[in-house]
Amino acid sequence: MIKRIIILNLITLLANWVLNAQSYSKNIADFIKKVENPYNFLSKIETLGIKMSGTTGLDSTFEWLKKISIEAGYMPKVYYFMNTTDTLYNIELVKNGTNDSSILVCAHYDSWVGKGVNDNGTGNFAVYQMAKLLKNLKSKYTIRFIFFSGEELGFKGSYDYVKRIKSNGIKVKFMLNFDQLGGTAGFDNSKVKCEKDEQSSNKILSELLTNKIANCYSIYTTLTPQISQAYLSDYIPFIDSGYIISGLYQYASYPYTHTTDDLLKNIDINTLTETVKGALAALIFLSEIKDTELVNTNKYIINNKINVYLTNGVLRFENLVGFNYKIFDYSGNLIEENIIQINIHETSVKQYAKGIYFILLQKELYCDTKKIFLH
Ligand SMILES: [Zn+2]
Repeated sequence: MIKRIIILNLITLLANWVLNAQSYSKNIADFIKKVENPYNFLSKIETLGIKMSGTTGLDSTFEWLKKISIEAGYMPKVYYFMNTTDTLYNIELVKNGTNDSSILVCAHYDSWVGKGVNDNGTGNFAVYQMAKLLKNLKSKYTIRFIFFSGEELGFKGSYDYVKRIKSNGIKVKFMLNFDQLGGTAGFDNSKVKCEKDEQSSNKILSELLTNKIANCYSIYTTLTPQISQAYLSDYIPFIDSGYIISGLYQYASYPYTHTTDDLLKNIDINTLTETVKGALAALIFLSEIKDTELVNTNKYIINNKINVYLTNGVLRFENLVGFNYKIFDYSGNLIEENIIQINIHETSVKQYAKGIYFILLQKELYCDTKKIFLH
């Protein structure tokens, strides 16, 4: 009986995947052009230094990823775990969907020996871009964007995360992993590896998922997808725990992994941009964001700007009734929170220390941020 239920479930799942066929969408093709040039992001990753357990580089990268996530409109959730005496942190950004089943979009941010511009600054760029660009769009599935630490220590961060989602009963549709997407400068970067699970009982579903992602590369990018096997990255703990996975990896071999030469000058920026565009198209399709949602993404920002003004230490919110606002300091600590009830809502910020603050405005699924400087 149990066997029959499993088979029936499998058939239903397979039918869902197959019926949900892919065809070219001009709106998706236009939307993925919003992917930014990765140069500044990767320069910052390089400046932040070596990101091994116990280094200041790892701590600074953690702080910086949190900061840019807040600027992108998220309230980062931080989960800690231990590596002997060091405390390490995973960062999770949640974009709610209309369905409580989640798609996990993941990349590790720790490095080994070198500064890790390709391994895995490029994966962080992919996750960050997708989180930022999809923030205000209504999706069927909830999307959890995760930056893992401790990957280079044996997937410690992803093992810890799997333990947490299991104990909290989080429903997972699949996990998508990004590791080393930069391409190698001077090599053949015309292809991208779409990686699937070839060993677990989920291998058929992983293959179907990976084929769909590969298809998006054929439809929307200049890269030729090549199906390959998932190994040695953060999807391993997910495969071990019975989740469906897929992942992206660069095609050309990269001779600088885990060396001090894992630097911006050794990767191919155009390949990375193209890889992120394809992944974004796939995520739009798989999270079931409606085609029409992709046009006019500013529709929930009143008059195309955030109506928040700072004058003489007083913050004024205009015509934002029903919005919830949160004020965070530079480190991401919540300072103040309130729901706006009247057309002109004012709050004094004179009592706060000098520095940069972020104001997060939210209403239903939509939100935006504004940066202010108190001096
Ligand atoms: Zn890696």
